[in-house]
Amino acid sequence: MKDLLKKLSEAHGASGYEENIAKIMVEELSKYSESVEIDKIGNVIARKGSGDPKIMLAAHMDEIGFVVQHIDAKGFIWFILIGGFYDPTIFNARVLIHTSKGDVCGVVGSKPPHLMEEEEKTKPVKWKELFIDVGANSKLDAENLGISVGDSITFDQEFRMLDRDTVTGKSMDNRVGCLMLIEVMKRINNPKCSVYAVATVQEEVGLKGARVAAAKIKPDYGVVLDVSFGDQPGVKEREITTALGKGPIITYIEANGRGLMADPKMCKKIIDIAKANNIPYQAEVTYGGMTDAAIMYITGEGIPCISLGIPTRYIHSPVEVLDIDDVKAGIFLLIKFLESF
Ligand SMILES: [Zn+2]
Repeated sequence: MKDLLKKLSEAHGASGYEENIAKIMVEELSKYSESVEIDKIGNVIARKGSGDPKIMLAAHMDEIGFVVQHIDAKGFIWFILIGGFYDPTIFNARVLIHTSKGDVCGVVGSKPPHLMEEEEKTKPVKWKELFIDVGANSKLDAENLGISVGDSITFDQEFRMLDRDTVTGKSMDNRVGCLMLIEVMKRINNPKCSVYAVATVQEEVGLKGARVAAAKIKPDYGVVLDVSFGDQPGVKEREITTALGKGPIITYIEANGRGLMADPKMCKKIIDIAKANNIPYQAEVTYGGMTDAAIMYITGEGIPCISLGIPTRYIHSPVEVLDIDDVKAGIFLLIKFLESF
């Protein structure tokens, strides 16, 4: 399971540029599904079982990233953001620019601290001041590498094990959800309902793929798999109420109610199943952050939805951290939930 998470985490696919990660999802889901297709917007839709009810599991496969906006005369690359960043996480990162001639490595440059005024050092850096150095000497050099306006850019970050069963890497948000889709399809046998595992596109830029997929499938129920917050220093106790190692998170309300308002009956059902099977879980309501569930539950005539999150630290940075035990518990809970239909 860790090997597959490593493969998913290290794959590159900024929102709108998901082809590579979609390829892995098709490859993996095909092994365990009765049908797999890619829809017009790029969602990967796999199905196992038939008849009612139709249950749609969704996990977004896109990651936050950047897109080349301008190559200057000296060959430095300027970019726009794709998705929600805290600008300092981009500072001095190593990145890959995905060009028609292949991946080009670059670094986000900065002024040496020796030359900074005291005031400059205390101000947080803004993304518009940041640029990528690919080692080129001129615009022509950069163009010869294959770089052009519109190319996507992602963090170049290796997946690593930390202590216990904890791992770190980029794009745990939401390749861990993709991993859960694959593992559930692999392990569920002869479901007495239609299980759709959907790897969605463009979640980080407005929950777009999930809306399209839900409109097509018209499921009776939706379960969204994503990351949620995990305990860490530097935040108040009430800011993050969930912790790594304490089980998957059931979110009742997202973003003060602007996001998902989870279906109460489904929440009760999944919690009852967790209790009956001694599966650890945590409950949360949040004032920030939304998932695909926020759009799914108001698609068409309305779809009862719940959101299952894996507690994750440092979300939307290249060093996201999560605990594999939470992932295992989440997969087990999902299977028991699907088997209850
Ligand atoms: Zn995200």
